[in-house]
Amino acid sequence: MPELDPVFARAQLLDRIGAAARAAGRDPGEITLTAVSKQQPWDAIGPVLAAGHRVFGENRVQEAQGRWAGRRDLPGLELRLIGPLQSNKADDACALFDVVETVDRPKLLRTLAEVRDRTGGPLPRLFVQVNTGEEPQKAGVTPQDADGFLREAREVFGLEVEGLMCIPPQEEEPALHFALLRKIAARNGLARLSMGMSDDYETAVRFGATHVRIGSALFGARAPAPATATPS
Ligand SMILES: *Cc1c(COP(=O)(O)O)cnc(C)c1O
Repeated sequence: MPELDPVFARAQLLDRIGAAARAAGRDPGEITLTAVSKQQPWDAIGPVLAAGHRVFGENRVQEAQGRWAGRRDLPGLELRLIGPLQSNKADDACALFDVVETVDRPKLLRTLAEVRDRTGGPLPRLFVQVNTGEEPQKAGVTPQDADGFLREAREVFGLEVEGLMCIPPQEEEPALHFALLRKIAARNGLARLSMGMSDDYETAVRFGATHVRIGSALFGARAPAPATATPS
């Protein structure tokens, strides 16, 4: 049994998200809780799904396939890729996910456009990841490259981007990063912001998040990542 009751935790999180929204003069209905199910046992995820939750985030394509491919027909299910996408996994990712939040480099724009042209099918909806802290080990376009990258996506590859995503540096005040992401989104006419995790989602809501990505505060501590898996 997980130490946390995920169904109870979900209800509490939705209450707190709603309260944070109202305190900021926002409509709670603007904010979606993305339940981050990576590395969580089905014992924790199943009850949340049964309670009506439908939006889930995963950070590895293969792991997500194992968990969700057989459940893809579930009405209303929305799967969001929140981890880095390697070009060689793009076909699988486009087949499984409704949203890819981690578009982060020109090569991936090209790959996604190729998948679209080859399959003729609609692509997942796209968010661009911005490396707001300009951390060398972290994925994402830099804040100063973001406008050009968004223009390239649209004008060179015909890709519609619907929002931005960021993961602030662990040791910094997240509010500064959320404010920066909001500013980049506003000047590019983007209405959706994926930001805020277990420890800072209320701050993110105050700064305009439309999607908060919550794992451990919902499902409990994660199992360690499988050592053999390559990043996807
Ligand atoms: C794992 C992960 C989360 C969830 O983190 P918690 O702190 O457990 O809420 C959110 N976003 C991304 C990109 C992640 O990889």
